Amino acid sequence: MTSCFEVFGLKKVINASGKMTALGASSVSEEVAFALKEAAQGYVEMDELIKFAGTIIASRTGAEDGCPTASASAGIAIATAATITGTNLSLIERMPQSAGLKNEVIIQKGQLVHYGANIGQMIRLGGGKVMEVGAANKVEKEHIEDTITDQTAALFYVKSHHAVQKGMQPIDVMVDLAAKYHIPLIIDAAAEQDFQHYIKMGADIVVYSGAKALAGPTSGFLCGKRNWMAACRAQYKGIGRAMKVGKESVAGLIAALQQQTSHEKTLEEQREQMSVMCEALNKLTGLACSLHMDEAGRTICRAQIKVQEEAGITAAQLQEKLEKGNPAIYLRHHYANVGLLYVDPRPLLPGDEAIIVKEITKILQEGK
Ligand SMILES: *Cc1c(COP(=O)(O)O)cnc(C)c1O
Repeated sequence: MTSCFEVFGLKKVINASGKMTALGASSVSEEVAFALKEAAQGYVEMDELIKFAGTIIASRTGAEDGCPTASASAGIAIATAATITGTNLSLIERMPQSAGLKNEVIIQKGQLVHYGANIGQMIRLGGGKVMEVGAANKVEKEHIEDTITDQTAALFYVKSHHAVQKGMQPIDVMVDLAAKYHIPLIIDAAAEQDFQHYIKMGADIVVYSGAKALAGPTSGFLCGKRNWMAACRAQYKGIGRAMKVGKESVAGLIAALQQQTSHEKTLEEQREQMSVMCEALNKLTGLACSLHMDEAGRTICRAQIKVQEEAGITAAQLQEKLEKGNPAIYLRHHYANVGLLYVDPRPLLPGDEAIIVKEITKILQEGK
């Protein structure tokens, strides 16, 4: 099928790397695509639509209420601003200039990550003053507690594979501290699959992406306590205007949240698709392809392609040639430096894996 991007004359892209913002994140289901189209062609009272989305977010997450956003990044900025201004319109209109207000946001050093953009910048965009505590690989509870003052607006926890996984204080400690000092706890769970877990653990506000695990349109959503969600929605009269979430995105997000069964491939389907591809790749000299479960425990079965010396080309060289080709093929390449490339079956469109095999065969035959 020819995509509208090819009609524009842009290069065909095969995404075998994951939910990558740089490649357009997700390909939505028919139901979501229908909602996007219908919404684009109609009118609605936006306030009412946003409130309705909140009820759908609440029922999916188990939170009291929700708020749709343009992205998870917008969610971080809006949630931060909400903890500083509440629903006070004059304060909302002052953001992100928060001098003199309770504006400090405490984050553990190993969680001040770059996910394609710097998370600290998104907090600052919402008027937050980033208070980094501890060291990159070690944060004690005291580091956090010693930084809490009457200027503290929020505690901020990042649940992500990007963050340092050892030496950080866990969520339950953050929940206890938030309760002890009566400060809200914001959790960035942008790429997580479990939409209920962090609310259950006691977070006040949780940030999600709409286009990652949910496979919805480019969007994000916040869920949490009723008063905080009202303060988040109120930011659309302030900084939220520059991160406006459109009627199409909200409708698509609602459709994605309402889908009972995910349109994502099951583990069985992923395994079948990847083993057929591996069988073909294993016929090529110098490649060893095998199935590999996600290291973070998510339901993803990727194909691991080990590029050996006999291939006459390194994994990094193969990756570069695939990305520069037409179609441009993007494999998961975090471990290219140790000779490993991965194919993620989730974002592949029908027929993509045959093209991947064909292009890799061509490159190996041409040599370096
Ligand atoms: C992807 C990601 C974001 C940003 O999500 P967008 O919807 O692209 O803005 C924020 N935090 C973490 C941990 C992420 O992985």
